[in-house]
Amino acid sequence: MTNRRLMAVLSLVFAAGLAVGAYVSMDDVSPLTPSAHASQSRRGKPQSRRGKPMVSPTEARERDYYAPNSETLQPDEIRVIALGTGMPTPRPFQAAACFLMELGNGDKFIFDIGDGSVERMFALQIPTAFLDKVFIGHLHGDHFGDIGSLFVAGGIAGRFTPLRIWGPSGATPELGTKAAIEAMEKMFAWDIAGRLGQTDIRGFATEITEFDYKKEQVVYEENGVVIRSFPAIHAIDGSVSYSLEWNGLKIVFGSDTYPNKWFIRNARGADLAIHECFIAVPDLVAKYNLTPEAALQVGTQIHTAPEAFGKVMSMVKPKHAVAYHFWKDFDTTPGVYERVRSTYDGPLGLAEDFMVWNVTREGVRERMAIIDEHTWNPPHAYPAEPVRKEDLVGYSPEIEGGRLDVDDVIRPIYEEASEALGRKFEYPTNK
Ligand SMILES: [Zn+2]
Ligand SMILES: [Zn+2]
Repeated sequence: MTNRRLMAVLSLVFAAGLAVGAYVSMDDVSPLTPSAHASQSRRGKPQSRRGKPMVSPTEARERDYYAPNSETLQPDEIRVIALGTGMPTPRPFQAAACFLMELGNGDKFIFDIGDGSVERMFALQIPTAFLDKVFIGHLHGDHFGDIGSLFVAGGIAGRFTPLRIWGPSGATPELGTKAAIEAMEKMFAWDIAGRLGQTDIRGFATEITEFDYKKEQVVYEENGVVIRSFPAIHAIDGSVSYSLEWNGLKIVFGSDTYPNKWFIRNARGADLAIHECFIAVPDLVAKYNLTPEAALQVGTQIHTAPEAFGKVMSMVKPKHAVAYHFWKDFDTTPGVYERVRSTYDGPLGLAEDFMVWNVTREGVRERMAIIDEHTWNPPHAYPAEPVRKEDLVGYSPEIEGGRLDVDDVIRPIYEEASEALGRKFEYPTNK
């Protein structure tokens, strides 16, 4: 390891400590070094010389991570959680782009919804009725590819209202958000028909707001929350970034973009500025299998190279900068960090999935969330409506005629439920 690289790694550790506020005063550290402890043991009675421990052997201690649903969101606070920070090919450690913003007034907003992000969203155990507002920055699969998962799984799990989606127009109508989402709904025609009369499917609908990608404008204003859209430069026309302002706090989310003047203008004064920061070109060649020509084009012209990310943040000077859209591995992170640090020396978080930022006027706290991989669907916020049997689509005679006679084992399940729940569940005669 070169000295320069070693320094970069050391300063990364240093920065991580700063970001989570992990400094412990030397006065707080036990004066017993291992060697002092050993010599005391040799002199005997080590227990009595230790005195009362500074950490209880039995009492709960404050966590240094975020356990979902264990902390009340304060009325003046925004919690941002990264649910996708990686690349277009999702992997277990990192889904594609997605950031959730939870506001102290109860509102929740999803910015981008890349492939693989929805399973992470569900791991937070937030009722899906609250996850009904999605803002798409551009229509690359790694920024909206999981919208179908939230549409369907959210509808199954307790969202009984339409999924509200905001997104940019395109250079032509068929390249816009409205066309994409309408096509998505058509894609699920069988899925929706197959649920009619079986479960409450009121959530299997969308409400699309498509806006002009070329404008800097307010696209959402409800409940004291103002969300603005502004243009980005990425691949072809039709990419945008967003700012969210509420309660004197400002969070900016850049979907993919080449560094642009709109981001600088709209992100000034941000408490948290999230911007893409692509894999460094040498790693795009060596590990991502791009040709040098493609790596230079994709890594510096379509996206924001780490050095350019740093330059953007040096101009914006946010309270806290967040870089995402690179694979955060032990061997790639030092390179990204070193390149960003060549042009930016302010507060910085290199995002990975489940990184959490608590944003208040006092500052930004950065840490990780710990989730349970075995979570079930989150609790319902509102009750489901009873289904109407007459809505059932049913089977053709050919398919209906293929049923085995298993009534003798299914009928007792209805009887068991009727007895346990104290109401009569009619055994279906016409299935
Ligand atoms: Zn993109
Ligand atoms: Zn992307």
